[in-house]
Amino acid sequence: MPKKGYKSLSVKDDFYTLLERVYTERLELLQRHGIRSVSAWVNQMVDAFLTEGETHRVEHIKSIEKVVKMRDKELNKVVTVKLVKGVMVCWECGSSRCIHSDYARQIHGHYVSLQPSK
Ligand SMILES: [Zn+2]
Repeated sequence: MPKKGYKSLSVKDDFYTLLERVYTERLELLQRHGIRSVSAWVNQMVDAFLTEGETHRVEHIKSIEKVVKMRDKELNKVVTVKLVKGVMVCWECGSSRCIHSDYARQIHGHYVSLQPSK
């Protein structure tokens, strides 16, 4: 039974073993990004995958330390996202969960893929 507010998904044993192995190999890197479980890691990857299509809407302009600037083609304006206390906050939407902050997280290196590290 998942804890309150959560649902569970089933995956084949082999796939879970693969996820757990890669997670363990990258434990230090993932933990530096605030990911503390296989479940949190899978959630982050699925979230990045689902928002990937939307990010074609935005185009990277530049990144300076804790600031990512991008052009939003739909809004036709420059949008600024800033890293505030470890959270990407969009100055346009006032949110940390919008297309701009998601894109900034990917640009800022908070996206960690399933591919083996080299
Ligand atoms: Zn935004």
